[in-house]
Amino acid sequence: MWSIKKSVLLNALKSAENYYPDEFMCFLGGQKKENIIDEIVFLPTSTTIDSATINETIIPFDESILGSLHSHPNGYATPSLADKKFFTKYNLNLIFGYPFTLTNINFFNAKSEKIKINLIED
Ligand SMILES: [Zn+2]
Repeated sequence: MWSIKKSVLLNALKSAENYYPDEFMCFLGGQKKENIIDEIVFLPTSTTIDSATINETIIPFDESILGSLHSHPNGYATPSLADKKFFTKYNLNLIFGYPFTLTNINFFNAKSEKIKINLIED
């Protein structure tokens, strides 16, 4: 089971709010062995009102990138077909639905199945 620091989620929610009404996208870093997410990894992305895309060739081969995160300004925290394809790259994928609060986040594994995570108070 994945654990995520609450402060990481709160920071990401704030960023998603700043990007609204565009999509926000970033990556999640942390400790692979322990399955702990403790940092946001920002990479240059190009976001528009209905899509967030990233030039995958610029994703560094970095073992500390463990997951992905993006926002859905339309409010539905469910993966699109393109999302499902992208999610296969990571074992943890987050979607923030608008309004961006802790209760409007869904977590998915690489198969786009909803999973539960453990929130670490920090
Ligand atoms: Zn999406």
